Amino acid sequence: MAKENVVVIGGGPCGIEVARNLRDLGYTPILLEQQSELGGHLRLWDRLFPEGVEARKVLKELTGDLKGVKWFTDVNIESIQKSRKGYTVNVDTGMSFQTKALVVTTGFKLFPAENKQEYGYNIYERVITNADLEQYFHTRKDPRIQNPKTIGFVHCVGSRDEKACNRQCSKVCCATAVKQASEIKELFPDAIVYCFYMDLRLFGRSYEDMYLTAQRKYGVRFIRGRVSEVSEDIDGKLFVKAEDTLLGKPMKMKLDLLVLMTGILPGDSTKQLSEMLKIQTGEDGFFTPRDTILEPCMAKDGGLFMAGTCTGPKTIPETLSEARAAAIQVHKYLSK
Ligand code: SF4
Repeated sequence: MAKENVVVIGGGPCGIEVARNLRDLGYTPILLEQQSELGGHLRLWDRLFPEGVEARKVLKELTGDLKGVKWFTDVNIESIQKSRKGYTVNVDTGMSFQTKALVVTTGFKLFPAENKQEYGYNIYERVITNADLEQYFHTRKDPRIQNPKTIGFVHCVGSRDEKACNRQCSKVCCATAVKQASEIKELFPDAIVYCFYMDLRLFGRSYEDMYLTAQRKYGVRFIRGRVSEVSEDIDGKLFVKAEDTLLGKPMKMKLDLLVLMTGILPGDSTKQLSEMLKIQTGEDGFFTPRDTILEPCMAKDGGLFMAGTCTGPKTIPETLSEARAAAIQVHKYLSK
C-alpha cells in the first residue's frame, strides 16, 4: 500500500527531524526548503553549547539518513489550498503536493544588527555579529579579525529592547556569548575579553559551569551594563562607552573587536505562512500553538502542526525534541 504523504515546510534541523521521524512511523514525508541546501542556521554554525559539539557533525547525522524522505531545495511556497481532504501545497517549480497533515517548521532569522546603528555594524569594520564569529571559527578567515588584543561582546542586540520592537528574550544568546568568549580566548589567549550583559540567562544543565569556566579558566570579564555608544578612533580602534551598573560607573574603553549578540526573530516565511494559512501569531510574530502547555505542536486548525523556532527561540536539543513530538502528533491525527 502506498504510504501517505505528509508535507513538511522548512528544511532546517527541525524539519529534517520531523521528516525522519514521520518516515520511521511509515509515512512518506515531503520536505520543502527554500534555500539551496538543507540545514538552516546549523549549516553556518561552528560549535554548539554547552559541550562544544561540532554543528556540522550534528547536521551530518541528521542529513545522512534521509532514505524514504522526498526532499526538495530551492522551492518557494506559492499558495496553499485547504479543503475537507486536507491541504494542497503549490510551489514555484510548478509541483503541487496533497497532504492530510501539514507541518510548518519555518525557523528563525537573526536580528539585522545594522538596525541598531549606535553599535556601528556595517559602519565600522571591526564590529561583527555572533554569526560572523561562528563563520570565522570555522574558516579562520575574516579580514576584520587580526589578532585582537581587546574584545567586547554585547548581549541582547535586538532582544529585550522596546526600541528594536522586540521585548522578548532570545534565550540562547547569553550561552552563545559565554561559549564564544571562551573560544576566542582559546584562539587569542592574551586578549582581554569583556561581556556586557543586562542579566545572564543561563538556564540549562551545566550552562552555569560554562560560565564559571569562562571566568576562571579564560578570565572573561563580565560587566553588567549596556554599551551606549561606539565610534571609531583615528587609529581604527573602536571607542566604546558603556556603564557598569553594578559599580554605578561610566566606562570608556578602546577595543579591537566588538561582537554583537543578535537575537532571534521569526523567519520571513513564518509571516508569509501565517497569512496563507491564517495561523495565529503573537505580538512577537512567532506562531501561537493551540495550547502552549498541552499541545505546543498543534495549530488551531486540525491537520496543521508546527515545531521548532517558528514558535519561539529554542536550543537545538529542544528543537529536535519538539520535532519528534510533532511527528507523533501527526501520526495520532492521521491514525484516527
Ligand atoms: S539570552 Fe541573554 S543575551 Fe539573549 S536576549 Fe536573553 S538576556 Fe539577552
